[in-house]
Amino acid sequence: MKRNVDLKEISDGRLYSFGDMVRADCRDCEGCSECCRGMGSSIILDPMDVWRLQKGIKKGFQALLEEGKIELNMADGMILPNLKMDAEREACPFLDGQGRCSVHDCRPGLCRLFPLGRYYEENGFRYFIQIHECRKQDRGKIKIKKWLGIPNLKGYENYILEWHGFLNQCEDALETLSEENVRILELYVLRRFFETAYMAADENGFYEEFSARMEEVKEKFGFK
Ligand code: SF4
Ligand code: SF4
Repeated sequence: MKRNVDLKEISDGRLYSFGDMVRADCRDCEGCSECCRGMGSSIILDPMDVWRLQKGIKKGFQALLEEGKIELNMADGMILPNLKMDAEREACPFLDGQGRCSVHDCRPGLCRLFPLGRYYEENGFRYFIQIHECRKQDRGKIKIKKWLGIPNLKGYENYILEWHGFLNQCEDALETLSEENVRILELYVLRRFFETAYMAADENGFYEEFSARMEEVKEKFGFK
């Protein structure tokens, strides 16, 4: 979700690349699960997050919805899935009784990123540290690549950029489309990128499958 905030107010004022060291290491969170609670609908999932969960815990999109682990909401004009906070505990449904993430290996991209954020520029994005978000004050320095723990990080960054650019194109298109066509676009994107299971066995396979779907969707809606 886009946020219109002054970077100086929420960060140390610096932008980082994945090879940079940044004070993000909250040392395995040690007894804190603050950012897995009370997050409302803000932990929005992208297609790769759903593929990761499908592969990691063997639950597809429909099962995640039916079991109340995720829900659908509007974000920047599109219908997108997000982690659904459990009503009783106001916590992520994947947070276990010991306050640990039960899907750590396949956790969503936003969870991997936290307390970092992405700052989008004309031809890419860089990272920033959200200085007011993490409760741990004595965070250590860590290389961003290591913090994210994603093997083919360049491939992942390209994927994130493509998805972000596509959502921007959708947002622009929504302004000109009729009500009926807005609905068609929203539902088609939901179906092709989330509801239809990915067959990929690994990260690179996912990128190929995603790109093929992207090409198809862009052609259908006349996006460049
Ligand atoms: S998926 Fe894991 S890290 Fe992310 S909010 Fe849930 S419990 Fe926390
Ligand atoms: S607030 Fe910081 S230490 Fe606490 S769970 Fe989140 S990232 Fe970990």
